[in-house]
Amino acid sequence: SREIHLAARPQGWPTPADFRTVDVDLAEPGPGEVLVRNTYLSVDPYMRGRMNDVKSYVPPFALDAVMDGGAVGEVVASGSDRLQVGDTVLHQAGWRTHALLSDRAARKVDVSQLPASAYLGALGMPGLTAYVGLTRIAEVREGDTVFISGAAGAVGSVAGQIAKQLGAAKVIGSAGSADKCAWLTELGFDVALNYKDAPIGRQLREHGPVDVYFDNVGGDHLEAAMFAMADHGRIAACGAIADYNADAPSPGPRNMMMIVSKRLTLRGFIVTDHGDAASDFYRQAGGWVADGSLTWRETVVDGIDSAVDAFLGLHRGDNTGKMLVRL
Ligand code: NDP
Repeated sequence: SREIHLAARPQGWPTPADFRTVDVDLAEPGPGEVLVRNTYLSVDPYMRGRMNDVKSYVPPFALDAVMDGGAVGEVVASGSDRLQVGDTVLHQAGWRTHALLSDRAARKVDVSQLPASAYLGALGMPGLTAYVGLTRIAEVREGDTVFISGAAGAVGSVAGQIAKQLGAAKVIGSAGSADKCAWLTELGFDVALNYKDAPIGRQLREHGPVDVYFDNVGGDHLEAAMFAMADHGRIAACGAIADYNADAPSPGPRNMMMIVSKRLTLRGFIVTDHGDAASDFYRQAGGWVADGSLTWRETVVDGIDSAVDAFLGLHRGDNTGKMLVRL
């Protein structure tokens, strides 16, 4: 069995030297335990924050220990009466080919209707994040104009489709390539802006006013959105990926006074505080998947030895939809 450990705390952009590959012997599951052969690992932007030794909403990764995070796999040996060999499970034991887990730490998922990988993406944590941000944080209403940054990513692509289902009149997305923008249009976004073509503020100006901004990026995107917001607009602050690998925090938006003059609401959220929204989300998403109004893409990188590269690729924008490592 092979694992990826965090070997050093990166400064700015992580490099392969910040990680270490470790081979370990497989153990047999004891009573109440299962041995899982992982099939997909998730690489997620929040993992960058966990590489820093700072207090945050999740504890930092320990040095010289496995990078944990979402994964799906198949039970290959079981000492549990809850999970059987052959079951597909979702767990948080992260970047390793095999995981020995308590059966309480693994949740069986139904792969008769959906591929296992969907539970790491559109029908998993990123999908729930999109749902919570729109329904609970920004409270999207019928007729709203909604702007979503990072729109061709795991969270953003689902958010755009859900916004339409919630009755948004116009959904605007921003992403970093023409191909990504073409996909957004296929998904039903009304406007797709390539922020690398021209400053996002200048492009967005033509398409406002914006009632709801779902912020995945921060930085220039947040400032641009504040300029484009309608009075009483609502901003769901989901992430700030433009800053995650910066050596120093970037300057804040220069137009903070617009929060006052436009009576804006800016509200941050962390999806794990909203586990009670999950059953609603799965019920609704099940319907949207069945009638074709929720679809997704994955960018898949093969092999545990590619996990670090997949993680870095996520920050470079190599992914369309959810970035995954397939084992
Ligand atoms: P994505 O699948 O969206 O991947 C990250 C994307 O960010 C890249 O594909 C890239 O696309 C874009 N990006 C990278 N750098 C920049 C930049 N400087 N400016 C603009 N875009 C950039 O990741 P996720 O969907 O998993 O996560 C999206 C956001 O949601 C992140 O900020 C993440 O931290 C946040 N998040 C928050 C949660 C919460 O509970 N609050 C839970 C889950 C995610 P492009 O080519 O378009 O640049």
